[in-house]
Amino acid sequence: MNVHTMTAPADERYEPPRPFAEQANVSDPGIYEEFEDEWPDCWERAAALLDWHREHDRVLDDANAPFYEWFPGGELNAAYNCVDRHIEAGRKTQAALKWEGKRRETRTYTYQDLYGEVNEAAAALRDLGVEEGDVVTIYLPMIPELPITMLACARIGAPHSAVFAGFSADALATRMESADSEYLITCDGYYRRGNAFNQKSKADNALMALDREVTTVVVDRLGPDLDHGLDAGQYDYGELLFAHAGATVDPVPREAGDMLFLMYTSGTTGEPKGITHSTGGYLSYAAWTSRAVLDLEPEDTYWCSADIGWITGHSYTVYGPLALGTTTLLYEGTPDYPDRSRLWEIVERNAVDVFYTAPTAIRAFMKWGEEYPDGHDLSSLRLLGTVGEPINPRAWNWYREHIGGGDCPVVDTWWQTETGGMMVTTLPGVSSMKPGSAGPPLPGIGARVVGEDGSPVDPGETGYLVVDRPWPGMFRSLYGDDERYRDEYWEPFSEGDDWVYFSGDGAKVDEDGYITVLGRVDDVINVSGHRLGTMEIESAIVDIEGVAEAAVVGGDHERDGTAVHAYVSTDHSHEPSEALRERIVASVEEAIGPFARPEAVVFTPELPKTRSGKIMRRLLENIANQEPLGDTSTLRNPEVVGEIEATDDEL
Ligand code: ATP
Ligand code: MG
Repeated sequence: MNVHTMTAPADERYEPPRPFAEQANVSDPGIYEEFEDEWPDCWERAAALLDWHREHDRVLDDANAPFYEWFPGGELNAAYNCVDRHIEAGRKTQAALKWEGKRRETRTYTYQDLYGEVNEAAAALRDLGVEEGDVVTIYLPMIPELPITMLACARIGAPHSAVFAGFSADALATRMESADSEYLITCDGYYRRGNAFNQKSKADNALMALDREVTTVVVDRLGPDLDHGLDAGQYDYGELLFAHAGATVDPVPREAGDMLFLMYTSGTTGEPKGITHSTGGYLSYAAWTSRAVLDLEPEDTYWCSADIGWITGHSYTVYGPLALGTTTLLYEGTPDYPDRSRLWEIVERNAVDVFYTAPTAIRAFMKWGEEYPDGHDLSSLRLLGTVGEPINPRAWNWYREHIGGGDCPVVDTWWQTETGGMMVTTLPGVSSMKPGSAGPPLPGIGARVVGEDGSPVDPGETGYLVVDRPWPGMFRSLYGDDERYRDEYWEPFSEGDDWVYFSGDGAKVDEDGYITVLGRVDDVINVSGHRLGTMEIESAIVDIEGVAEAAVVGGDHERDGTAVHAYVSTDHSHEPSEALRERIVASVEEAIGPFARPEAVVFTPELPKTRSGKIMRRLLENIANQEPLGDTSTLRNPEVVGEIEATDDEL
């Protein structure tokens, strides 16, 4: 690629590699039309991927829209679908879960092992008083007990609420309070870069802040490395399992619409919201998209590097892959500890077939250099995916080439906590790929880009990303707040009985119907009346050779009111320089226009991120507004970034 190519040429596209297409689960382009013709009955195919205790009466009941009922009358159990039925199908010795611990420990659970432990944990929870419908909060790092206790909850019909382990005591307490949760599963601690880190003391602080009695289960992750005491109402997980050794619990049949779990959004934009997901619609959709987009087969070893504390890990480490009977891998730790080859070593050792990660991780890999992946045999990989933010073409191409060896399709999947599963992406065995564009809506999905008035925008124009039809994976509501659900997500674009879901994201669409997501509409900088999307500017910057990551925010400007400030980090082989600064400014001018020209380009070794890896623009905005313009060398007050790292637990 030319050094000065800022964005991908409009015609850059790749066809699905033939060997991939020939074996793909979905390879017939007719699927789009079939889904249109049959909608909503097309979703029978998703439901058919599951075993139902009772068949549904109808596919969709929209009488009470926008509170939709998918598969009404149907009854099922998620744990049964993710575990028991694979054993009944004769695959009890197949690996279900493979775990790579932070200290290079590994553990493998066959489906039979998983069945045993999920049942024992379910029996133990029930003995502690957990009843169908009780919300169990799970505050665990990436250890096997996290998916196991999720499935144990699902088995007895208790919705789980997983809270990312890196969150603070306050954040945990707020979420438990908001979810009316009286049960907590946590651990003594975990290793952070080799050091024992006390998780239980955080949990104890959260419990002190709550008025209600909470029953707590503590997993012993650290053994003798950390001694933890148990207070009244606190139980050791290992002892509970021992006391219930060999116990089994019948999976509780749940109505399709019953809550499988709730999940608080990552909170990049304000107050966390408790997104509630159904059992039947959600699980059908997680399974369907895992099959159609991730191309998963039971024989595959599949790895999604996201933390299970986020929706990506729920849908695409736990529920989707296990519903299909795949081997799913989880790893504890960070990609650069003990060294920067960690992920590639794991891929090689486990012969991973399908790998799913985030653009922010890919840009970190690029920054470190290709020597790390190049030193490993990654030829087992068949398909790559990304999720979480837009991926710029340079990173997309790097991923395809250096991780995928040039012959794996790459799926760029747009979706949200609220959508439960993927919504906009290419089908890897069917559609051509265009780097930088997620792709068309999935079959049956009514994703559209519309203007203020709700009518579709012309190709090339910017608009709002909406979904004009319900889909099985959709959230049911916000926990305890139907009004906010309706007001925030449905009011903006609905008219009369035409309910339209508003995603909060801005996007563009091209002549082929491919959607490029531009980021949240509230991440907009207004420079002398021009509304500039931050992601579009960032995309122009990160496509420059030498740039690893970029974030732009609005800073005060005497004349224009607001000016663009760019925070930029360079990759391993480039130093910040005046020449690079000039290229950045020129690149933005060329890609967007002179009015978008960054007033300040600030080089910084790292960008402040939320725990889920999203850039904290708000914080940079604060920094921007204290920073004198024209400081182009380093981030003036790096201690602010230090503080961010120390307090991002609060997010
Ligand atoms: P909150 O809603 O609390 O502010 P969040 O939106 O970051 O947090 P998620 O549901 O995890 O929480 O993220 C969904 C958002 O991530 C999308 O709305 C979109 O902005 C972004 N996103 C996800 N996948 C993609 C993608 N493939 N391309 C572009 N953006 C994406
Ligand atoms: Mg969101």
